[in-house]
Amino acid sequence: MKSRKLLMIPGPIEFEPSVLRAMGEETTSHVAGNFIESFGNAIDLMKKVWLSPLGQPFIVAGSGTLAMDMAAANLIELNDNALVISTGYFGDRFRNILERYGANVTYLEAAVGEVVSLETIEKELRSKTYKLVTITHVDTSTGVLVDPKPIAELAKKYNALSILDGVCSVAGEEIKQDEWGLDIVLTASQKAVGVPPGLALLVASQKAIDIWKNRKSPVQNYYADWSNWLPIMQAYEKRQPSYFGTPPVNLIRALETSLEIINAEGIENRIFKHKKLASAFREAIKSIGLHIIPINDTMTANTLSAIYYPENIDGGTFLKKVYENDIILAGGLLPEIKLKYFRVGHMGSLSSNDLISVLSAIEKALAELNYNFEIGKSLKTFQGLI
Ligand SMILES: *Cc1c(COP(=O)(O)O)cnc(C)c1O
Repeated sequence: MKSRKLLMIPGPIEFEPSVLRAMGEETTSHVAGNFIESFGNAIDLMKKVWLSPLGQPFIVAGSGTLAMDMAAANLIELNDNALVISTGYFGDRFRNILERYGANVTYLEAAVGEVVSLETIEKELRSKTYKLVTITHVDTSTGVLVDPKPIAELAKKYNALSILDGVCSVAGEEIKQDEWGLDIVLTASQKAVGVPPGLALLVASQKAIDIWKNRKSPVQNYYADWSNWLPIMQAYEKRQPSYFGTPPVNLIRALETSLEIINAEGIENRIFKHKKLASAFREAIKSIGLHIIPINDTMTANTLSAIYYPENIDGGTFLKKVYENDIILAGGLLPEIKLKYFRVGHMGSLSSNDLISVLSAIEKALAELNYNFEIGKSLKTFQGLI
């Protein structure tokens, strides 16, 4: 019997077989001709997927947190003002990282399930000179989606850099980096980009690069310093070998494969698919009386859903039962409500069948826990919408 589990958490996710096969190819030298071509191609493809033909991609071994660290380390100097717009756990992380490099951080935190208003953001930007503003596009702890476009416009108006934590959104939610004027858009391989964990990915605008070049003090992080990585990215983009730290050869080959798949599908089609499946899934969940964290649809992510357990249902028991049906879901992450909700990742190479399996396992677990609902209702709702 096949006992494959379906990994439906907000990263790592289910990966395309061809991406996994690329991971498993024989490891070559980082200066071999075929690897130089893969690395260069991955850099070119990032510009396409990020919709940032003018941007400077960075591909570095590490996780999403390293991409955040890299943005902060290269752009912040002692006592710079930074504005963090937080919709959950990862806003708090950005604050901690920025403070580590000596930034004076102002932290604007939304109520759970909500976003910070543009008026509040503008009022703060008007009050003093900010070096940069950070936005969590999708906070993976709450499933809240923020519209980055008007915030990037505000940042530009007040001459601050805009940094988008797109770890749970790049290739799953709409982002037009150059058109919207976002200075940094960063992510990690294991989320909607669809590659096993291990790569920090970031695209920087020319303005961000110029501000880094004109720093008065050295970057306070040796590994993340763009002085080390920019020449590497520029060399491989020109299809020339170069060395600073050994690149994760197999992962970069897998990244090239996944970005090719995304690019061939078309980034707009891919975003549309995420939206369609996510909204059908949400309606299905609501049809059996469950509630999600974001307070309305315009603030709800299409890459994951954060769902409250029904009253009197023990989360641990519920997740265990779902797991026994071969579906892996995630528990809560936001400390104040951690035990009250669970999370379903639905990003990357997702199919409607995956979500049907998830709904079926959720219903079965709820029925066994004596939750009162009409069996089959969520499946019927979902199928009626896709
Ligand atoms: C997952 C995630 C991170 C952290 O990424 P790691 O790869 O776990 O370091 C940061 N921000 C957001 C929004 C995330 O979803």
